[in-house]
Amino acid sequence: MTITPLIAGNWKMNGLRSSLDEVAELAGLLTTGEAPRALVVICPPATILHTVASAGATSGILAGGQDCHTAVSGAHTGDLSASMLADAGAQYVIVGHSERRAAHGETDEVVRAKAEAAIGAGLKPIICVGETESERDAGNAEAVVASQITGSIPDAAGQHEVIVAYEPIWAIGTGRTPSCEEIGQMHNAIRRQLVERFGEKGASTRILYGGSMKPMNAREILDIENVNGGLVGGASLLAKDFYTIISAV
Ligand code: PEP
Repeated sequence: MTITPLIAGNWKMNGLRSSLDEVAELAGLLTTGEAPRALVVICPPATILHTVASAGATSGILAGGQDCHTAVSGAHTGDLSASMLADAGAQYVIVGHSERRAAHGETDEVVRAKAEAAIGAGLKPIICVGETESERDAGNAEAVVASQITGSIPDAAGQHEVIVAYEPIWAIGTGRTPSCEEIGQMHNAIRRQLVERFGEKGASTRILYGGSMKPMNAREILDIENVNGGLVGGASLLAKDFYTIISAV
């Protein structure tokens, strides 16, 4: 089965209107160079989501949100619903990023409800999972991730597109990554679990790797079996770096 890889940039709490220059530069690189072999998504802060979605449209750059509320609307000051993100031009939304799980106490149950809300609004949720360093050191990485997958992925993933992002927490923003063998083992385990639960749909679900993916290591990581793209933080902020990662597909 061929799965078109997807490279998503998570800008986190970085980016002003002036960052549109980076989108324009990336758009230029994507349209003048060899056609990308991956879907390209940028998840900017919500303040510039609409502008990024509009600026990227002609060059095939897709836009995504970084989080959404579980509810469709209501008294939730400061929050954004999935349909608001869709209205602003998003096609994807990251849910359950480890920074939100840690800083906002998001449980698997909440993440699952967010993924359901995203699907309900016609978005494709990028559902993040990943172990801490001590969980890996204790030999529990696969068990932790398996339980996050069970708890965070809604049953609706059997009929709708979801994307899984495996992001070892200790690799995010640290410059450290698991070995290719460790990444391969985890992605294979996630694939087995997805196939067991969702059959064919699980076999075609994209599993992204995230955590210090850089221009230098992208090629070897993207070459690993069952790595169907990447979720890129720091290296997605500069068009040239992000383009090098996209070109590594
Ligand atoms: C992330 O936060 O999703 C991420 C992968 O960050 P970085 O690439 O900077 O490690």
